[in-house]
Amino acid sequence: MNQKAVAVIGAGPAGLFAAKMLAENNVDVFLFNRDIHPGGLAEYGIYPEKYRLKAGLRKQFMSILAHEKIHYFGNIEVGEGKDLSLRQLQELNFSGILVTAGAQKIKRLGIEGETLPRVYHAWEIVSNYNSLPPYAQMEFPIGRKVVIIGVGNVMADLARYLITRGGVDEVLAVARRGPAEIKFHETEFAHIAQNLDHDDFESEMERVTPLMQKLGQDPNETWAFIEKACENCDDTSSKTNFRLRFLKSPIHFNGDEEKGLQSVEFVENTLVKDNHSTTSVATALKTIFEADTAILAVGSSVDGEIGLPVRRFEFAISPYPDFPQDGNSYEILDPDTGKNIPGIFVAGWSRLASYGLVGISGKDGTRGARALLDYLQIHGEEIESEKLIKAVRDIKHTVIDKDMISKLLQIEEQNAKHLGQPEFKFKSNVEMLSALGIV
Ligand SMILES: Cc1cc2nc3c(=O)[nH]c(=O)nc-3n(C[C@H](O)[C@H](O)[C@H](O)COP(=O)(O)OP(=O)(O)OC[C@H]3O[C@@H](n4cnc5c(N)ncnc54)[C@H](O)[C@@H]3O)c2cc1C
Repeated sequence: MNQKAVAVIGAGPAGLFAAKMLAENNVDVFLFNRDIHPGGLAEYGIYPEKYRLKAGLRKQFMSILAHEKIHYFGNIEVGEGKDLSLRQLQELNFSGILVTAGAQKIKRLGIEGETLPRVYHAWEIVSNYNSLPPYAQMEFPIGRKVVIIGVGNVMADLARYLITRGGVDEVLAVARRGPAEIKFHETEFAHIAQNLDHDDFESEMERVTPLMQKLGQDPNETWAFIEKACENCDDTSSKTNFRLRFLKSPIHFNGDEEKGLQSVEFVENTLVKDNHSTTSVATALKTIFEADTAILAVGSSVDGEIGLPVRRFEFAISPYPDFPQDGNSYEILDPDTGKNIPGIFVAGWSRLASYGLVGISGKDGTRGARALLDYLQIHGEEIESEKLIKAVRDIKHTVIDKDMISKLLQIEEQNAKHLGQPEFKFKSNVEMLSALGIV
């Protein structure tokens, strides 16, 4: 029977909630996912020890996948020169396409020395400790003095990892702006608060307080925030010293290929008011911190290789959507024609890179699906799903479907029980495929 059928690229929270919305509106959903496991960063980003949160989300995602109108194709990467290109998807005559592939590429800042040994991007370390293939099997040596650039929740996760893994003496987190602009949440900071060097924090607060007061910011609010996190902090036995520095942007990673990173040079910033926000402005002053490891935790970029136009680190979202949802655009502007690309929509972190937690990304996926449904009211041919399924399987044979995912989850749960661990994850695709008896 012919029906409207759409391709959703990426099975993270945005793609899964979009698939649910589309399927509930009688559309056949072909959900393509690069990873074998669905879940995206809910599986491979959220801190490993948040077992209950992750297990709850996994259950929710599996119940979405169970919908008969959702067809899951894991282990399929979409993009130029990948398993399946955007053009091939268009040639298969899908009624519409929704890109929910997250923002899973490294955001290179172009700072001198950024590719030195032991200068990493958060994505690499997070993917490694969360067992995402192929990062799970790669080596990321970490020294004793680590500088993290950025002060969001990802910084808090990284600091937590460095504090608890052992072997790290110092972690210094450096912010471009001031204490009033920190982005991490109290609950995440509570995991690292016990290791905060209080004397050092006090003197850093003393240094930045005059500027805060000049801008009408209240340093007591920062103190109250830190003290509350400290009251609820984790009881770690780790001796790692954790410090925070404000008003600095990295300008140079010093070192060489042989010795790797030796220090990080920063320019000192001041802040100016910009409507309801503040903007950092570089001064002539510079500071150098000795460090043998640096991690850039400044967000990530969308993947231009998917085949959509990119502006800096984000897809070129159209400011003039034909199918807006709650005032937001889910469409892409083609820079060559100056028009919206017909039939292609984006949602989740692919729409707003590195923005929001799972709940926000899921809601954005639902809204992106609504935009696509509005489009389908007017456009999009009906096609036979069975033919489409066969065509996709002819392109790649090691496709993972939802029954295989259920089986894989069962095997991983059994392995965890057998090893007496709260969780078990295979570290490579080959291990997953061989556990499923495919290779
Ligand atoms: C380190 C870290 C910790 C976090 N911790 C929390 C937390 O504790 N709580 C919380 O609520 N939120 C947390 N988040 C945020 C949350 O993970 C995101 O909000 C959410 O996962 C984004 O969803 P998404 O679907 O847009 O993208 P993603 O989750 O990134 O999913 C993208 C999906 O697309 C697939 N994909 C990528 N490229 C392709 C391609 N070319 N072809 C096919 N498929 C592709 C990937 O395999 C992936 O499955 C954290 C994020 C990070 C980075």
